[in-house]
Amino acid sequence: MSPRETRRLLAQELAAAAAGYQDSAVIPHCPVCAKPCCRLDKLVLELEWKQVKVFWRLDESRKAFDRRLAAGQGPVEIRPANGLYYAHQKACPAYDQTAQSCRVYGQEIKPVGCSDFPVYEDQGKVVADLRCEAVDIAALTAWIARSLGPGWRIVQTADEEFPFLVTLAVKKVSATAGASKRSRY
Ligand code: SF4
Ligand code: SF4
Repeated sequence: MSPRETRRLLAQELAAAAAGYQDSAVIPHCPVCAKPCCRLDKLVLELEWKQVKVFWRLDESRKAFDRRLAAGQGPVEIRPANGLYYAHQKACPAYDQTAQSCRVYGQEIKPVGCSDFPVYEDQGKVVADLRCEAVDIAALTAWIARSLGPGWRIVQTADEEFPFLVTLAVKKVSATAGASKRSRY
């Protein structure tokens, strides 16, 4: 197998492990979360036009909406940039605050970033956002180790600027390292 194919398969396994951890440990906690991310008080939600149009129930064209935003007459929580829109500081309109759930859960319209948060695979590593109270980094590390099986070790680092973003990189344990360790006993 080529190194490229090996990396692709590893990334796939990590993405599946991240999704499995979300299903098992994160999503069941959402209805009782003390600080739901969908309130967008800490997080910024990246949106495409189609999501803005549906979530904010807009009838107007994108051009008209952009003009309104530029004139300071649009929703104050939305900022446009690089062809996308960023919502912050007001709860997402798709968030059901009573049920503490997403009204577009499982639907195509749901932003990709929502499905990725708080644990996702990125370039062969797993990234965890500790702003989600359901993430237990030790349990996540053990989950990934179990998913990959023996022969791997997991190295944890925190982002210098945003220490709540923790990266879990996986390294192959070399046969030599295993042999030298065994020889000590
Ligand atoms: S912060 Fe975590 S537990 Fe809370 S609602 Fe968001 S994903 Fe769910
Ligand atoms: S789309 Fe759903 S998951 Fe994403 S912020 Fe809105 S309510 Fe939360």
